[in-house]
Amino acid sequence: MSPVAGVDVPTDHYINGERVGSERTFTTISPIDGEPLAEVARAGAREVDLAVRAAHDAFPAWAALGPVGRAAHLHRLADLIDANVEALAAVECADMAMLLRSLRARVIARGALNYRNYADLAVAYEERDWRSKGTWNRVQRMPAGPAAVITPWNAPFMLSTWKTAPALAAGCTVVLKPAEWSPLSCSLLASLADEAGLPPGVFNVVQGIGEEAGAALVAHPLIRRVSFTGSTETARHIGGAAAANVVPFTAELGGKNPLIVFADADLDAAAAKAAGQYDDAGQVCLSGTRLLVEEPVLDAFLTRFHAATDAHVLGDPRDDATTISPLIHPDHLARVEGFVERAREDGQRIVRGGARGAGLFYEPTLIAPTSNDAEIVQNEVFGPVLTYQAFATEDEAIALANSTNYGLSAILYTSSLGRADRVGRALRAGTVWVNTFLVRDLTAPFGGMGLSGIGREGGDYALDFYSDLKTLQILEGTVG
Ligand code: NAD
Repeated sequence: MSPVAGVDVPTDHYINGERVGSERTFTTISPIDGEPLAEVARAGAREVDLAVRAAHDAFPAWAALGPVGRAAHLHRLADLIDANVEALAAVECADMAMLLRSLRARVIARGALNYRNYADLAVAYEERDWRSKGTWNRVQRMPAGPAAVITPWNAPFMLSTWKTAPALAAGCTVVLKPAEWSPLSCSLLASLADEAGLPPGVFNVVQGIGEEAGAALVAHPLIRRVSFTGSTETARHIGGAAAANVVPFTAELGGKNPLIVFADADLDAAAAKAAGQYDDAGQVCLSGTRLLVEEPVLDAFLTRFHAATDAHVLGDPRDDATTISPLIHPDHLARVEGFVERAREDGQRIVRGGARGAGLFYEPTLIAPTSNDAEIVQNEVFGPVLTYQAFATEDEAIALANSTNYGLSAILYTSSLGRADRVGRALRAGTVWVNTFLVRDLTAPFGGMGLSGIGREGGDYALDFYSDLKTLQILEGTVG
């Protein structure tokens, strides 16, 4: 147990309804001041095996409980999340440096909503029946088994609930491995699952390093589903391990998302949203990091964009006035800095920012690339670094937008419905927002194309992933 932001946070794993330690630990630091926050139990293959076996043993009873029985547990968990918003927000802010006011106002509550949403969707799911070829056909959903869930360090609580909620609602048991840079809010989630009365072994959390605990988890032969959110590079390893065991694998990965502004758009709104892409220090997979602006309004857009960016306040994420927090970790800061330095050396024009601030801050940075092939245009930085490019025609905008190997999201500003439809259809992205950003309906499919991911989460799409679909066929007239 470690005191963090006034909250006692368990630092051991949560396995089979109990806290389990490890011989080794790792240190999680606070990005706010770079100081150590806690020594966290560091799982190896032994603890991972314990957790997976617990999930395996708990699976038959959890599956047999049915959607209504499971929903009662998940609703209790959602209520407990709502009742503990302050503690969860304070700990995640200390561990990851997301803005405290966002965590309090919406991010933690979204975790509760995820459990309620999937609990109710699983209850509402109807098996599909029809007659054909002289038989009755029925599609049945069978819970798949223990699921491995691996999550990244940004928004760790919300992203972990986004994956564990459909898994549990569908009847899978879960072993969650949160990221080593921000594991603490997921430890609190385990405590709440315990308090909600989830049976031992249904929900387990192991903490550790990706290449050790994560790799052991996804390769474990008793795991029946692997759900991953993180980088494309890691997905290649995890996907390989899942493939070796012939286990379905879903991956929500990075993006290099376009934010496209047409001349007919509300420029104030578009520029404000573009400057808003620096929120959370740009550590958001869905961020529109490539600003594509129609030539005649480029100057007018940039004037507004700079004014909106000037209004940003870099500071302590616990302070209400702060809009941009520090980056998660010195290694990540060095990675972001490396991108900008290489862009500079490569002759790309740094229009604003382009330097470290104090501590783990990096200045909001805007780059005018000289070529669309530049690394800074093509690869995900995952920091407060945007590029801008002008386009002359709708076709050119679409071509630029679709010119990277990613395809996670796109943001489009236009006042024309026809254009919204035409361009929206042509964009290669899992989600296209028109004149808005980050609004989500949890029943809609969510995921990426190309290097941005495999599979879809959201609504029934996620419940299907955590189920084995079966067709039952009965010859008509033979049963009564
Ligand atoms: P990462 O890939 O480095 O790590 C993600 C998780 O994988 C961590 O828990 C890590 O411990 C684990 N891991 C690392 N190597 C592993 C291995 N060999 N086997 C098993 N597990 C392993 O990613 P990150 O730096 O934590 O997160 C940032 C990335 O996540 C960015 O690319 C971002 O765009 C992406 N992301 C995507 C979404 C989305 O919904 N598409 C959401 C958030 C973040």
